[in-house]
Amino acid sequence: MGQPRFEKVAFIGLGLIGSSLARVIRERQLAGCIAASSRSQTTLDQALTLGVADEVHRDPADAVRGADLVVLAMPVCATEAVLTAIRLALKPDAIITDVGSTKGNVVEAAKAVFGEQLPAGFVPGHPIAGGEKTGVTAGKVDLFAHHKVILTPLESSDPEAVRRVRELWQAAGAEVLEMPVDRHDAILARTSHLPHLLAFALVEQLAAASDNLDIFRYAAGGFRDFTRIAASDPLMWHDIFMANKTAVLDALDGFTQQAAALRERIVSGDSSGLLGVLGRAQAAREHFTHMLAKTPYMETTSVSQQFTLNGGGSLRGRLHIPGDKSVSHRSIMLGALAEGVTQVSGFLEGEDALATLQAFRDMGVVIEGPKNGNVTIHGVGLNGLKAPAGALYMGNSGTSMRLLSGILSAQSFDTVLTGDPSLTKRPMERIAKPLRLMGAHIQSTGERGTPPLSIKGNQPLTAIHYDLPMASAQVKSGILLAALWAKGTTSVSEPEPTRDHTERMLQAFGYPVSVNGNIVSVTGGGTLTATRIQVPADISSAAFFMVGAAISPNSDVTLLQVGINPTRTGVIEILRQMGADIQLENEAMAGGEPVADIRIRSSQLKGINIPEDQVPLAIDEFPVLFIAAACAQGRTVLTGAEELRVKESDRIQVMADGLHLLGIDCTPTPDGMIIEGKGQPDSWPEVFAGGQIESHHDHRIAMSFTMASLRSSQPIHIMGTETVATSFPNFTLLCQQAGLPIQVTE
Ligand code: NAP
Repeated sequence: MGQPRFEKVAFIGLGLIGSSLARVIRERQLAGCIAASSRSQTTLDQALTLGVADEVHRDPADAVRGADLVVLAMPVCATEAVLTAIRLALKPDAIITDVGSTKGNVVEAAKAVFGEQLPAGFVPGHPIAGGEKTGVTAGKVDLFAHHKVILTPLESSDPEAVRRVRELWQAAGAEVLEMPVDRHDAILARTSHLPHLLAFALVEQLAAASDNLDIFRYAAGGFRDFTRIAASDPLMWHDIFMANKTAVLDALDGFTQQAAALRERIVSGDSSGLLGVLGRAQAAREHFTHMLAKTPYMETTSVSQQFTLNGGGSLRGRLHIPGDKSVSHRSIMLGALAEGVTQVSGFLEGEDALATLQAFRDMGVVIEGPKNGNVTIHGVGLNGLKAPAGALYMGNSGTSMRLLSGILSAQSFDTVLTGDPSLTKRPMERIAKPLRLMGAHIQSTGERGTPPLSIKGNQPLTAIHYDLPMASAQVKSGILLAALWAKGTTSVSEPEPTRDHTERMLQAFGYPVSVNGNIVSVTGGGTLTATRIQVPADISSAAFFMVGAAISPNSDVTLLQVGINPTRTGVIEILRQMGADIQLENEAMAGGEPVADIRIRSSQLKGINIPEDQVPLAIDEFPVLFIAAACAQGRTVLTGAEELRVKESDRIQVMADGLHLLGIDCTPTPDGMIIEGKGQPDSWPEVFAGGQIESHHDHRIAMSFTMASLRSSQPIHIMGTETVATSFPNFTLLCQQAGLPIQVTE
């Protein structure tokens, strides 16, 4: 970024905005001389006293004489009069910019003075920063820092002049955007002018009431928050409402309609409709905040955290583990596309599933909650989604992006899918390719086939057969979801079994799915019927407590209604082979998924060679299974698990480092690990020495070593545990409940 340098800058109007910019120019030495003209002599005297101007003039023409930059910083309605006054005194190549809150009328005023051929140096602008205080004394050098400035260059604007104005605002610490004049006025009418108008109106309404003193006396936070901006300068706002008349009236009409619709819902007692609007608005506000900040939905604390565990103990009790993430995603998608109202309980309120939920809200689906894991989805049917107003933001969720690609390929409207910086690096061609074969117009617009994804609407889809080149439940699901709208029967074959939650949930919503060996088929043109979905507890989260209870003395834990989908139960099978005492009780079906209470008690484990066919079915559970292996009698060998090296961390190396540090003899291999177990039969000696473990901010590593502490005599400190909360929000609370207190420090 270059530093702009001007010989002489002239300000016409030197109040809050003008004097703040003059302070920046002064402090950063961007001009040889600052001249100012204003309406009152007092302002000019103060400007000299404060040192924000070198020379002051009552006549604006005197101020601009010889200036290479002129900044109009007075109320917008004065623009024509000021330009008329300075026109003949302007240097021919002077850059002229302004700071007015409306742009259309400033351009009109310029045309009235200069004719249709505007000066090449004319570059209208608007800083989105300010305050309720006005005048030269209210200015601050940092007023624009970390704020946006919108420039609205015209066809006549010289690109060099635009560049220099942009650099000026950047020097003030602002982020500079460009847009056409009309768009600026329409956006600002809705985001700034309408809220100010409503604030003035609300205060006026209360002030006019006969008991106004009491009302103001008792007015609480809501009134104060909402009406803060009514303390702004009335004259300035009068000018803005008048100057941006058309766009302000449009925004006001939109609001009036919205208010009338809300009124009607209250009058008619339409409680679910009212709740839908309020829920959508609340979520949308949060969503916009995150989208603009490009941050995840749930704030992960950026402060590094650590767990301290005293060592020893046992686990007891009946525990509710949070809901399964894969099932939570699909419950929202199919609930939204179903006919009728779907009730979901046990929904995982983690950031990924929330991204899916918000996407459907953005496409017009009324969704209540989530509240304590309960979500109510007012389904719109397979053809009821509406075009979203903007791009759909998927946060960090690859599942949301890949599955939604399938659904959106079949809609009648165009969509764009974006995500946070990490999602933006993930490969999307693996799903785009088969969808294109079905007739979809889908484009990965990032480098190397990465997001954003742009999908064109109104493309008829045709069934295909697709041999998945890799084992991926997300790609399989994306294709099967697109197949709901495709003509004919789509089939997908997979090289190895992957999670089949989509197939099961389609059937729970009454949609036929045929499974023949490794081939899954779905025929388009059916209907999804709303249902009740109990999201099972996540077996990957349950695994920590299963291992914790198995390795520690006097433990007896029941994990309630855990999903035992056969594509996920490797951990149960492996622990059983190691001799763990595991019982499944109250087996049932919930939302197409098998569930059971898993009871697990202290057991003497023995080392085993882990069967390779169980590896894909337990891939996320190996970190904690390594802890079980260390507590077993004899050697455990894992092979065929090279994927562990490319998870959130290199889970083979990171676990091996931690185990060594705690005194375990283990050897990492390219595709697994050999662990010499230290467990002795029936005597429960200590297995682990204490120490400080580095989790590399990998949630599963952190939770695994938390369980190791149950067999340690010395305290274990685990560093970098802040990521635990995003995947298992109440992990520390459940540990506490089961008898394993964790001290959390930042
Ligand atoms: P301000 O503090 O009230 O300052 C206005 C300045 O303009 C004062 O120096 C005033 O002079 C001068 N002035 C008024 N009428 C004039 C005229 N007919 N000829 C010459 N000078 C005149 O207002 P501000 O907040 O800086 O606002 C200035 C501009 O910035 C407005 O166009 C506004 O739309 C825009 N803006 C304001 C904000 C905000 O939040 N305040 C934000 C973004 C943009 P005297 O003091 O001598 O009377």
